[in-house]
Amino acid sequence: MTREHCTSPASPTQPPRERPGLLSVVLPAFNEALNLTELLPALALAFKDQARQVELLVVDDGSSDDTALAVQALIHQGLPVRLLRLSRNFGKEAALCAGLDAADGDAVIIMDADGQHPIATALQMISDWRQGFDVVYGVQTGRSESQTLLRRRFTGLFYWLIHHGSRINMPPNAGDFRLLDRRVVLALRALPERARYMKGLFAWVGFQARAIDYVPHRREHGASSYGLAQLLSFALVGLTAFTKIPLRLVSVLGLVVSLLSLVFGLWVVLEKTLLGQPVSGFTTLAASITFLAGVQLLCLGIIAEYLGRVFDEVKHRPIYVLQDLTPPLQNQLLPTD
Ligand code: UDP
Ligand code: MG
Repeated sequence: MTREHCTSPASPTQPPRERPGLLSVVLPAFNEALNLTELLPALALAFKDQARQVELLVVDDGSSDDTALAVQALIHQGLPVRLLRLSRNFGKEAALCAGLDAADGDAVIIMDADGQHPIATALQMISDWRQGFDVVYGVQTGRSESQTLLRRRFTGLFYWLIHHGSRINMPPNAGDFRLLDRRVVLALRALPERARYMKGLFAWVGFQARAIDYVPHRREHGASSYGLAQLLSFALVGLTAFTKIPLRLVSVLGLVVSLLSLVFGLWVVLEKTLLGQPVSGFTTLAASITFLAGVQLLCLGIIAEYLGRVFDEVKHRPIYVLQDLTPPLQNQLLPTD
């Protein structure tokens, strides 16, 4: 079942395309030896006739299991796989960047290496790309219903802030499972920021997109790397990268608290001069001091989040470090400067 992206016209403005000359599939992998041993042969078979040539790009994100050995064994068996090994665990977003930097395909599909993303949906993405769409993204169905009310409210607030603070349309329940046209990949590569909140960046670059609903498979081996704490810190990266609304809220909060204090101050003076009643002391004083201290710390915390982001950006460190590539690139000199 397909659904149009709310900002895109129903039919593509691009003319229909031939099947891709080269189809790249980027698979970020952290401790996925068992899953990849099953997934890569299945992908090679499924995509064989979808393009003249297929490359399955596995990015080993500093795995501590036998992910690299398992993938190398499959390469020796003749599967169209390239393995990029990062020098340590940089996180999925950085692994995705490494994959996109290396992907030369006319169309590039991003899939998880744990087999949770259905191959049938990926095939549907290719057919939508051939119709002329530049981006085809998967939307997980039934996800919101399985979440608690509190989490749904927070998620709703997050998307509201991003949408109103950045004017980008980041569809809820859409993740990294998507197909990107080569032009979209080039646009993403040109973005200079270090903190890669990919979901936001995909939306930021734009292009004509179509959504496809899918139901993720169960993880066969291993466990998910993302708990609630990681998701929260991820949301914070997204917010500080895409909206300044929290900073504006700090100013508004400051204004509101100042006005309230002014009214309260006037009331206290009038009460004392007109009614002759002194303010009932300690409780009022203690309550207002702790309240104001709390507000100030909250505001400082919000400002510090943005400051931390600036700190990360000005360091200009690379997003990832590549340890090696299998098979190695032919006739390619390493940069000397
Ligand atoms: N992953 C990665 N680096 C990490 C954590 C995860 O490359 O530091 C990969 C992981 O191997 C998988 C994908 O990112 O292919 C999604 O991770 P996971 O299945 O843990 O997340 P979930 O499906 O629960 O969102
Ligand atoms: Mg998973």
